Amino acid sequence: MSKPEDVAAVGGEGNDLQLEGVEIESNWDQVIDNFDNMELKPELLRGVYAYGFEKPSAIQARAIVPVIKGNDVIAQAQSGTGKTATFSISILQRIDPSIKNVQALILAPTRELAIQIQKVVIALGDYMSIDCHACVGGTNVREDMAKLQEGCHVVVGTPGRVYDMINRRAFRTDHLKLFCLDEADEMLSKGFKDQMYEVFQRLPQDTQVVLLSATMPQDVLEVTKKFMRDPVRILVKRDELTLEGIKQFYVAIEKEDWKLDTLCDLYETVTITQAVIFCNTRRKVDWLTDKLTSREFTVSAMHGDMDQAQRDVIMREFRSGSSRVLITTDLLARGIDVQQVSLVINYDLPSNRENYIHRIGRGGRFGRKGVAINFVTSDDVLMMRDIEKFYSTQIEEMPLNVADLI
Ligand code: ADP
Repeated sequence: MSKPEDVAAVGGEGNDLQLEGVEIESNWDQVIDNFDNMELKPELLRGVYAYGFEKPSAIQARAIVPVIKGNDVIAQAQSGTGKTATFSISILQRIDPSIKNVQALILAPTRELAIQIQKVVIALGDYMSIDCHACVGGTNVREDMAKLQEGCHVVVGTPGRVYDMINRRAFRTDHLKLFCLDEADEMLSKGFKDQMYEVFQRLPQDTQVVLLSATMPQDVLEVTKKFMRDPVRILVKRDELTLEGIKQFYVAIEKEDWKLDTLCDLYETVTITQAVIFCNTRRKVDWLTDKLTSREFTVSAMHGDMDQAQRDVIMREFRSGSSRVLITTDLLARGIDVQQVSLVINYDLPSNRENYIHRIGRGGRFGRKGVAINFVTSDDVLMMRDIEKFYSTQIEEMPLNVADLI
């Protein structure tokens, strides 16, 4: 990692995130398609198999080894293709369990995602005696400090709280070897840039940097040059994966006002499985939840205005399957992995193309089949065409038998 001053340029003032996604160019072609051949510690390998993985996914087969070798790495692959395990396995291999200091820091954009990652690290490291702490906002600061002072090997967190803990000297960074940004494009974009800068400044100069994301806008890619050294770049191509597996439909709805009735008509279909319904604003989430509840449909809702305890309960209910329909904003678009979700409804089309793939990637996890239904008013038609073109994919009119496809 280079000098932190350089990082001040991250998404500099007025430098709006471009919507244009680019594909990074791979400069690494080694593929190891068997976990046995990655020279993992036996107790880690045992954890991987015990977790139920048999073979590495495309991104795992390419990216784990260069990370383990200590390279800075940028890895880009579609949502739901195993990026979490890619960096978790690499990190577990890189840390020394006998030293109870934070050796790896993972940052993610939402608390839910950080906690989900922590669970994966703990599960994969089950036979390694490692401690992985989730350092996220909305939890008790004192307890957080106490946990860090007790010592742990890996911290997964959100930027604000992690920075706070570093500042309070509860989180000592002097043993840090590896810094990983999940959903890297989001982490390096406007909303997070100041916090990221502050965290970067506190890390040892030679910290290895690993970035993962499904999407990589050009300006973000440019910014990575400022703090990564000669990174290995790995792209698992968009068309090699996995919009395939997700059937995408649209329902043409003349007026915004008619979307609600359309959704009610679809409700039975929706509850065949677990579904996520995306709206573009928090207010709309609340509004839709009220409307559906008053028509006696059972739904839950989640967005960033809710306090953390509430968000936790709702996530838990949804993960356990006790709630089946979750209405949310793009807060949940990224990273959250609930395997049973096979239907995503865009009540509103997302306002940028990147979020489309993140949203519909909530269904059809790891090759499972999924269905996405887009509600499209006449104002949205251009955006939908644009999405189709961008992902070289087709969004067809929803057939009457859509329930059979879920
Ligand atoms: P991403 O971070 O790329 O969005 P995840 O890491 O959340 O994807 O993985 C998606 C799902 O696929 C998870 O449920 C995960 O447990 C599963 N998965 C990941 N790697 C493998 C593998 N090698 N074998 C089987 N399942 C896997």
